[in-house]
Amino acid sequence: MTAFTNAMNQLHKTASLINLDADVLKMLETPDRVLQVKVPVKMDDGNLKIFEGYRVQYNNWAGPYKGGIRYFPSVDLDEVKALAFWMTIKCAVAGIPMGGGKGGITVNPKELSHSELERLSREFGRMVAPNIGPLVDVPAPDVYTNSEIMNWVKESYIEFEKNKAQENNFSFSPEQIKKMDAVITGKAVEQGGSLGRDRATAMGGFFVLEKMRELLNKKSEELTVAIQGFGNAGGVMANLVFSAGYKIVATSDSRGGIYNEAGLDVKALEIHKQSTGSVADFPGAKNITNEELLTTKVDILIPAALENQITIANAEQIQAKYILELANGPVTPEADEILFKNSVKSIPDVLANSGGVTVSYFEWEQNLKNEKWLEEQVFSKLKEIIVPAFTSIWAFAESKNVDLRQAAFARALERLSMLWYNREVSKN
Ligand code: NAD
Repeated sequence: MTAFTNAMNQLHKTASLINLDADVLKMLETPDRVLQVKVPVKMDDGNLKIFEGYRVQYNNWAGPYKGGIRYFPSVDLDEVKALAFWMTIKCAVAGIPMGGGKGGITVNPKELSHSELERLSREFGRMVAPNIGPLVDVPAPDVYTNSEIMNWVKESYIEFEKNKAQENNFSFSPEQIKKMDAVITGKAVEQGGSLGRDRATAMGGFFVLEKMRELLNKKSEELTVAIQGFGNAGGVMANLVFSAGYKIVATSDSRGGIYNEAGLDVKALEIHKQSTGSVADFPGAKNITNEELLTTKVDILIPAALENQITIANAEQIQAKYILELANGPVTPEADEILFKNSVKSIPDVLANSGGVTVSYFEWEQNLKNEKWLEEQVFSKLKEIIVPAFTSIWAFAESKNVDLRQAAFARALERLSMLWYNREVSKN
């Protein structure tokens, strides 16, 4: 099954559950706009190479299209469309004034020199410049892209706007140009990025976890946790969970995992990872495989590495009672059904990792208003958004006896219906 077919199956399943308006369903079955661009790049050896690039603008009823640009060898239109649809759902779950989009280039950036990467990114920026903008479509970094790459795209966009203005005998003031920073999020703090963005995804997931613990009436010390992945999302999450008193018994990275029934000291583990490059071989812990980590007996499993980790092959062996999906797409649809049957509650990615896109929205807002928020402000605003979203989804799942993913999709589709309805009313 392709990613987009999977996305559409989720849409139809939830549409029947909530009796979604037929027009809304029809509108959500296809993206608003698909840009497929040719990106010619002069390589260092003098040869011209053509890359395929995409930007899919799925839905903008809530606000400008929002979503990352990834550079990866397997990027294709089907995948970008699916990811753009999921961004529409994610923004609607969080209830932020942003729509869904996604972009990508079919390339392995590790095979490019730094200057080839720059030419590729600037050219892609030129190709999409007429169709993006702070109030139109706001890209961000994603898999194998970063703030430097996004800055090149942003500069292409600003150059395009300046040239267009010049043709019309007009020029922008420095303040107007500064506001154009909002065309991209995920910028370095000194280039207009938001404080707290680097920890936002884990922080959002942590707020959700803490609220769930409260609903379950448990103390953090009573709960054991396993985290797959020790990078930006997983490593920060490990720290937050450890500091709050949960017992982390297992974690892993690409080189393998570790387990200690008595609990891992995450502060010491960070030092070990810094000096050895991996969590493996941590003194006092037993080395385990990533497969063993996923099926470890714990209360809470947090996949924070890759997609498709819990599949039909291992779903029956999952012993965790709760799963918090910090990674995107770690559980396949078939596995979802098995987990639900076995009463494993899985908090879906569209909610669990929406802290990232929510703080990206804060970055955009700060740029447009020319403000700079403190990290505490950023996190308290994030909490105000993500906790009510979670409680409403939890309540929906309980009342309809469906899994939390369906509940999240249902809440998102309800919100999108309302936005559609308001648009239609305002037209008349
Ligand atoms: P990252 O590159 O910083 O970290 C990935 C971690 O996964 C690393 O520790 C790596 O060693 C580990 N890993 C790689 N292969 C593995 C394997 N086979 N088994 C176990 N661990 C493995 O990436 P990240 O930013 O932490 O992203 C992780 C996931 O979270 C991705 O699915 C990403 O899409 C999702 N996510 C991240 C953000 C964000 O803001 N960083 C936002 C939303 C979603």
